[in-house]
Amino acid sequence: MSYINRIVIHCAATTNGRRLANARETAAAVIDRWHKDRGFRRSTPFVNEFSPGLRHIGYHFVIDTNGTVEKGRAIGETGAHAKGYNTGSIGICLVGTDKFTQAQWEALALLYADLVEKYPRAVVCGHRDLSPDLNGDGKITSNEWTKICPGFDVDSWETQLLSPRDEWICEEHL
Ligand SMILES: [Zn+2]
Repeated sequence: MSYINRIVIHCAATTNGRRLANARETAAAVIDRWHKDRGFRRSTPFVNEFSPGLRHIGYHFVIDTNGTVEKGRAIGETGAHAKGYNTGSIGICLVGTDKFTQAQWEALALLYADLVEKYPRAVVCGHRDLSPDLNGDGKITSNEWTKICPGFDVDSWETQLLSPRDEWICEEHL
């Protein structure tokens, strides 16, 4: 198991509030299909030991709009979710784009608490916070983002004791 230095929060870039799971597949299985199409592949020893039905998924966790948390890659298994930051990191994907349901926020807070307890030295950030620091001021500002993922400010969510701002909450369930 490699040392966990970072936890990266992502969004799936899907319709806010719409379940990704369908009658045949869980949300993680749907993402596994997308990641297969992108050419991601887990190494066989990990597939055999953990989430054997998911041979491609790049994330370690997926949180669907009903709050279901699924496991993808094993912790310590290198992910495929944040270019340049996959070694020693954990990738969490929220279904939606920039608004998430209360069930997702609650599930994320529980998962966060669990992971931060296990890996207290891990830095938690959003995918967009890994964009290049173009002006070298040590902060990644919105003009420097190469992507909007995960659609909310992870730093202020942490500072606000894991309570989301109103504009990050999806009231509709589709
Ligand atoms: Zn992302």
